[in-house]
Amino acid sequence: MSDAEQPTDANDVREEETVADDEFEPVQVFPESEDMDLRPGSDDCYKCSTCDTNCPVAEVDDDFPGPKFQGPEQWRLKRKDDHDIDDSVMSCSNCMRCDSSCPSDVPLSQMHNTARGEYVEKQMDKLSREYVRNRILANYRTMAELGSKVPRLTNFVMGNSLVQAFNEKVLGITSEREFPEFAEQTFREWWDERGGPQVRSEEKRVAYFHGCYSNYNTPAVGKAMVRLFESFGYEVVVPKQRCSGTPMFANGMLDDAKRAAGINVENFSGLIEEGYDVIASCTSCSMSLRQEYPELFSYDGTASVAAHTYEALEYLRLHEDLEAELEDAEVDAGEFAYHAPCHARNQGLAGQAVEVLDGLSGANAEDVGDSCSGISGTYGWKEEKYDTSMKIGAEMFDHMEETEAETGMTECPTCAMQMEHGTGYEIRHPLEVLEEALVDEGSH
Ligand code: SF4
Ligand code: SF4
Repeated sequence: MSDAEQPTDANDVREEETVADDEFEPVQVFPESEDMDLRPGSDDCYKCSTCDTNCPVAEVDDDFPGPKFQGPEQWRLKRKDDHDIDDSVMSCSNCMRCDSSCPSDVPLSQMHNTARGEYVEKQMDKLSREYVRNRILANYRTMAELGSKVPRLTNFVMGNSLVQAFNEKVLGITSEREFPEFAEQTFREWWDERGGPQVRSEEKRVAYFHGCYSNYNTPAVGKAMVRLFESFGYEVVVPKQRCSGTPMFANGMLDDAKRAAGINVENFSGLIEEGYDVIASCTSCSMSLRQEYPELFSYDGTASVAAHTYEALEYLRLHEDLEAELEDAEVDAGEFAYHAPCHARNQGLAGQAVEVLDGLSGANAEDVGDSCSGISGTYGWKEEKYDTSMKIGAEMFDHMEETEAETGMTECPTCAMQMEHGTGYEIRHPLEVLEEALVDEGSH
């Protein structure tokens, strides 16, 4: 057995153990530990309201009180008495734009995530339609795992207008959107079929966090990531993994997120000890491992995973002379209308795809501005949030249509859904264009 395969097999065992250990462990939403106490953070807020003016939901929904209320004000109230969490916290889309807008570094999204977790755990009716719907949406991976066993049948059933009407009426999942199609072969099935890593290296090693969407819906993104990194001499391994937790945080399902994070941290931190860095092709997944895990969980290895996680293109730019590589390359890709996901902005990655494609002959990406796409993962799938989601997205749709491009580009799979939904454009991932430019056709 090769070195690279050993951790993967060991991880299978670790996964089983962790699931059993964590099955019914409650989440400490408001832990006793001083380190995790956010209330002092609320004192750093000096009520400038910059976060409110940067909140896309508050901009279009007059009933939403905004991040200042959701964060520091609720925390101050909580300190004074046993204050219930206001249900408006469920209208926050978890775009996390307020985090990066605050001049005082108030940990807003951490406050929202913990408040939402407490609201769901203590105040939400577990038999309500909203809870059941949110639990289904938050656990997309479970549904995708089943659906991808019979992708053609699932795609046919989920695309049926009667099923869509049922989903809207009974569950509150909007019928306005096309359900994303499952791929005929998942990324992991492809990975196994090709025999795992094709390149071995002691020095250049990455562990790929593909997340749910690249595995079940858009394996072409995962394949492009693997081939691109292997073309640069990286050994890529693909450990067992669960959802990053992004949709769970957004729906206040912190028990589910904690279980998933436990498995991910255990499996990836083991690899970090063997010299691997963690890379993700979805900016929300990298955000989750980097920021939300250390903010909310304290598993051994959480800090190490956070410190060693990168978005894939970011990693290549840090470690390779991508500009020089692209100088001699050429593609016939044309113009792209590029949208930087909010979670890419939070990681300081907003301009990278445009900058990289600038140096590639035959491709050009035009940034469509800093507005939010409005879908925010599961948010825009909720029947009662659909209109808000489309109002937020309107600016991005307009800007996309104002460019020369008729194809969109983004790193986030749900932003891609929204871009396609609002414009009808095909949407590509930057890694797919880089693969076209830098990877020999023979290795596809
Ligand atoms: S931006 Fe920061 S300091 Fe200003 S109101 Fe919001 S939380 Fe308070
Ligand atoms: S996370 Fe986004 S939607 Fe939620 S309060 Fe902050 S800016 Fe508004």
